[in-house]
Amino acid sequence: MRENDFLQERLDVLLKNNFADVERPNEIKIAFGRRAKRRFGSIKMDRPTLLKKNPASIITINGLFRDEKIPAQIIEATIAHELCHYAHGFSSPLPKKYEKPHQGGVIKREMKKRDLVFLYDYEQLWTKQNWVKILGESFPQTRRVRRRKQPKTLSQLLAQLLKP
Ligand SMILES: [Zn+2]
Repeated sequence: MRENDFLQERLDVLLKNNFADVERPNEIKIAFGRRAKRRFGSIKMDRPTLLKKNPASIITINGLFRDEKIPAQIIEATIAHELCHYAHGFSSPLPKKYEKPHQGGVIKREMKKRDLVFLYDYEQLWTKQNWVKILGESFPQTRRVRRRKQPKTLSQLLAQLLKP
């Protein structure tokens, strides 16, 4: 199982190789979060306190990605996606470049600009081919016990009691 230091290392590599030009007025932290069905990752600003005048941006990665059966590229694609939000001024102190974080394909364009579109495409294809199965394995359905209908009449009650 992967630990948070794996995420830190992937984040450092992406920042160094693909996002080196992006100003970083605050710290970017990263950690695994809870296991999620629909969200691969998210980025949020930490709450400012008296001691933390310059709150960090915190990237949270789907807890399911601790499992090595999830390819490393999926985690890299997710981190890169969140760094695009950071560069666009969402959950970061940088000026906002767009009105909405996913406006008109801005993530794909940013990934392309940063030579990361291969990760973007990989994520799309892999998700299409594997995610439903992974979810089935990760969140097994417990079979619901069907309640017996309450009998309304004596004959219905007898019929139910006498059922084999
Ligand atoms: Zn996003």
